[in-house]
Amino acid sequence: MSAQMIVDLGRILSDIDVLRERIAPAEYMLVVKNDAYGHGVDRVVAAAAAHGVRWFGAFDVPMGVRAREAAGPDARVFSWVTITRPEIAVALDADIELGVGDASYLEDIAAVSAGRSARVHIKIDTGLHRNGVRPEEWPAFVARAAELEARGDIHVAGIWSHIAETSDEDDDRSRAAFLDAIQIAEAAGLRPQVRHLAASAAAFARPEFRFDLVRFGAFSYGIRSTGGADLPGITPAATLVAPVSAISASGVEVAYGYLDGLPSTLAGRMSVGTAAGPRTVREIGPASMLIDPWPGAAVGDEVSVFGPGTRGESSVTTLAEAIGTVGEEIIVRVSPLIPRVYI
Ligand SMILES: *Cc1c(COP(=O)(O)O)cnc(C)c1O
Repeated sequence: MSAQMIVDLGRILSDIDVLRERIAPAEYMLVVKNDAYGHGVDRVVAAAAAHGVRWFGAFDVPMGVRAREAAGPDARVFSWVTITRPEIAVALDADIELGVGDASYLEDIAAVSAGRSARVHIKIDTGLHRNGVRPEEWPAFVARAAELEARGDIHVAGIWSHIAETSDEDDDRSRAAFLDAIQIAEAAGLRPQVRHLAASAAAFARPEFRFDLVRFGAFSYGIRSTGGADLPGITPAATLVAPVSAISASGVEVAYGYLDGLPSTLAGRMSVGTAAGPRTVREIGPASMLIDPWPGAAVGDEVSVFGPGTRGESSVTTLAEAIGTVGEEIIVRVSPLIPRVYI
């Protein structure tokens, strides 16, 4: 056996069920950026679509096209980081709805669409300053959007923003700015079908952040927030496993091959899961790690580097907390050369 990332699709679906139930009647969107947070977009989207998920959120157009192919023609696919005109054409051909946070980009979409009523979701900057139309430019922007909609070049399907989710006070301010923006858009004659503001953490905790649709990334895969509590009913879907490759006086060597992404600063601060429970990691090298021994350890034994804790391993968020980052960073850095195995 070589290292593998075992992805339990059933766990993703049951995590999704928990989230859907929690936010109803708001709708659930599965965010699949970064190859579905490293889990593999094709299989994850196909399984979710078969399970009744209707909305998919892809960062960029290439990921949106893959989500469309996996989800089939009836799903709604939303993509929010799009830049060039050729990309707009690809997105419209694949029936991808585009996030727009920039006036000149709206003109580009209208020009490429030319009468096809391209579905767009207009974005107000509610304080994060990560693209989005500034509040002082919003009235002119929505007036122009209404004009382009009347002409049949675009259809404003959504209005949205993104929030920091680092403090309730900041989020509350963003929410107030979002409500203002909705009013101004409606006064301009726009009737967006979906209003969406929050990602995992705020939407899970705070009902008033759910609006019509919630963009759930991390929690869908069982990745809790750094510093956040365990989530009732939500389990990590991925387990990274690797074999014991040698046993010596200095410890047990575990070969993962391509785990170039596991930060070496985790050495001494993390444990992995073994048949005998957790064992401290002493050293992390480019292709293997050295861990504490246990009686009966043998070459070929399977070790869990991270996962739901079945063998005593930690979650990616617990690893991340040891070095001051977020769980997403640990999991998306697992090399694409490590095969994903679906169960
Ligand atoms: C990544 C992202 C999300 C999902 O965030 P999670 O915290 O992983 O749920 C939602 N919306 C946007 C715009 C994002 O970039």
